[in-house]
Amino acid sequence: MASVEVLAVGTELLLGQISNTNGQYLARVLARHGALHYRQTVVGDNQERVEACLREALGRTDMVVTIGGLGPTEDDLTKAAVAAVFDRRLVLDPGWWDAIIARRGGSVPTSPSARRMAEIPEGAEAIPNHHGTAAGVLLRSRFAGKDCVVVCLPGPPSECLPMIDDWLAPFLATWVAESGGPRALVSRSLRIAGLWESTAEGIARAFITGRDNPSVAPYAGQGEVELRLTARADTRTEAEALLAPVETALRAKLGPWLYGVDEETLPGVVLEALVRAGKTLAVAESCTGGLLAQRLTEIPGSSRAFVAGVVGYANRSKERLLGVSESLWATHGAVSEAVAIAMASGAAAVVDADIGVGITGVAGPDGGTAETPVGTVFLALHAEQGNWCWRLRLRGSRSVVRFLATQHALLALHRFLGGGVAAMEELGTRGFYL
Ligand code: ATP
Repeated sequence: MASVEVLAVGTELLLGQISNTNGQYLARVLARHGALHYRQTVVGDNQERVEACLREALGRTDMVVTIGGLGPTEDDLTKAAVAAVFDRRLVLDPGWWDAIIARRGGSVPTSPSARRMAEIPEGAEAIPNHHGTAAGVLLRSRFAGKDCVVVCLPGPPSECLPMIDDWLAPFLATWVAESGGPRALVSRSLRIAGLWESTAEGIARAFITGRDNPSVAPYAGQGEVELRLTARADTRTEAEALLAPVETALRAKLGPWLYGVDEETLPGVVLEALVRAGKTLAVAESCTGGLLAQRLTEIPGSSRAFVAGVVGYANRSKERLLGVSESLWATHGAVSEAVAIAMASGAAAVVDADIGVGITGVAGPDGGTAETPVGTVFLALHAEQGNWCWRLRLRGSRSVVRFLATQHALLALHRFLGGGVAAMEELGTRGFYL
């Protein structure tokens, strides 16, 4: 029933020198195509162990996709392992051999290593690799009395990922349907910021219980939660029809905390809301060191609404660049509501922006006091309707505190642009749940 296992081959993966990013990418593609993906294995460059892993996987599953070990060097032994498991020889694939020669302008390579790149197990097919020399392998055979498929992909992501997109994804679409899997699979990610993961899960649970089509699965990200809905059916239209009422019901329950869907991001959604409202934004950052400006300017077209980001790190620079008077930070301290508000309004004033954000805090690991412990961040928003400031108590490493501070700022902007003063007042009493 369309079950697939992934076997990543490479000692550098086991040593932790590289991450299995190909496996991660492939996992998403498998999920998108409705393949039953129950297991991934990582094994070192050792033929005996690769063979053992292949036999075990083939005993459990219908398709095994291997990643890596297709190159010309001694430790590239995946094809030899596949050939041994199916008791076949490695033979030259004439088509791929010609392709290698054509790429070299007609000159025939003489080294044995070049020949190895064109060898595949007898009876298999070569999968073209448009970004490298080693061909992939497709072997349809039988193992332990049942049909099976083995696909071998190269390790370098620059070769592996295009082969997944260009060759494996269309192959999977047909194979899953032929193997009795659903013909159409439609997914929708609902992106939520401002609700605890447990709250979002509680809302989703009513839909999760006893419902597997569409399925609803929550995933906790940093400062946000994703609810992934997946519907399976014979046609795309049927799958969409199954998904739509559940999405509508969830949207009604999640309200303004649902900020976007699928590939949308909080900075992207905030920028679009600014553009729609015809408003411009300037930000003044201390402990986040420009991270908020970075996250906003990463979005193409951000200049339509983003005017300036000022990193006022030292107190003097807060004064010179943002007009935060010495008396303010001398009286209240640099990490204070008064300074955060002055930074937000100063940023807006200095470049004539409609909205200003100010962030000042203690990111840690040092610098905390009894009054302002590590993780204390003051976030202020300035607009023509007023100033709002929140004292946040963030937990985590320096980089987590910095990221979460920017996430809170984006959420405040999102709520302000969506709900105006009433939303700010609600956030003022309710606080943030990130
Ligand atoms: P080559 O022709 O380069 O030898 P190959 O198919 O034999 O290709 P490997 O030698 O196993 O692949 O890996 C080549 C490189 O690809 C590794 O050094 C690593 O940088 C990267 N790589 C291998 N496997 C993975 C993986 N699962 N995820 C991400 N990167 C990988």
